[in-house]
Amino acid sequence: MLPAICGQGVSEVPCGDCTACCTSSQFVHIAPDENETLSHVPPELRFPAPRMPRGHVVLGYDQSGHCPLLGGAGCSIYAHRPRTCRTYDCRVFVATGLEITEESQVSIARRAKRWRFSFPEELDRVRHEAVRAAAAFLKEHQGLLPEDLAPRTVTQVAVLAVGIHDLFLDRDAETTRLRPVAPTAQAVRSEVIRRRRP
Ligand code: SF4
Repeated sequence: MLPAICGQGVSEVPCGDCTACCTSSQFVHIAPDENETLSHVPPELRFPAPRMPRGHVVLGYDQSGHCPLLGGAGCSIYAHRPRTCRTYDCRVFVATGLEITEESQVSIARRAKRWRFSFPEELDRVRHEAVRAAAAFLKEHQGLLPEDLAPRTVTQVAVLAVGIHDLFLDRDAETTRLRPVAPTAQAVRSEVIRRRRP
């Protein structure tokens, strides 16, 4: 999940025949550098992305909440699908303990609840604890981040929590093992700004 969130890979989610995220009234963002994707999306399906610079677009959805590129056999442009779709990972909700509340996304919520995690190593459990702590922190400190960096949806909170969970870990001086810690609000704010505004 982390490489996908950091823009260094794609999510490898065993979706099976689930198309919940393609049928949940979601606007799919496409960035201007996604030339391969854009060449497979008809211009009439693209709309300027709100609050984003010129060139960023979104795919809308039909009256049933379905992506217009979803066909009977799944995504009709699967090999060229947007980065948003390549990196979407509904396991993020179970990982963070956050629940989707949007009525239109009930099928994603239902599917996500079925995921189960295992912790082969103690470190896996500790990191999961840090992810949950980061999510709880972000929920508790709404308004901490500048407006342009603040997560607006549950999905964005969950993704940010995974992305900054390392701030909720520290190395024990004696054992050198990672252990959960509680950073200050100011420390989290500064680090998020540093990472997001290079
Ligand atoms: S572009 Fe493809 S993968 Fe993305 S939402 Fe539409 S149908 Fe689903």
